[in-house]
Amino acid sequence: MTIEGGCRCGAVRYTLALDDPPRTYACHCTDCQTWSGSAFSQQVVVTEDALHASGPITIYALTSSSGRISRQRMCEICHTRIFNTNSARPGIAVVRAGTLDRSNELIVTAHIWTRSKQPWLELAEGVPAWPEAAPPEEMARALRIGC
Ligand SMILES: [Zn+2]
Ligand SMILES: [Zn+2]
Repeated sequence: MTIEGGCRCGAVRYTLALDDPPRTYACHCTDCQTWSGSAFSQQVVVTEDALHASGPITIYALTSSSGRISRQRMCEICHTRIFNTNSARPGIAVVRAGTLDRSNELIVTAHIWTRSKQPWLELAEGVPAWPEAAPPEEMARALRIGC
């Protein structure tokens, strides 16, 4: 199936080639709160080759204290962040779930960094949650990636 999305102004559009509607995770870390201007970020993890974007994209590269480089892709015109890659995870792209056209159909199957979750936000019972980052294999299971 092909899943489509784009930025707020419409100049950047992208497609995801996936077998099933993607599962998503919510990150409640304070960096994601600042970056999204919201309580958490909702993300779709895909392989980079499943993602095809067109339009004017600009890149913001941020090097973390551990030396990992995160490359954030955003619309050059309206600055909507669309997706990022990270030098620590080659071949993987993390897409901002709210930019999907049919984001209303998405479900969240994992919560990470709940230690800094906003106190008013109640998480659904039975959805895996971790106080900080999740172990990669448990995260992959929750998102049904590579299995
Ligand atoms: Zn735009
Ligand atoms: Zn985060």
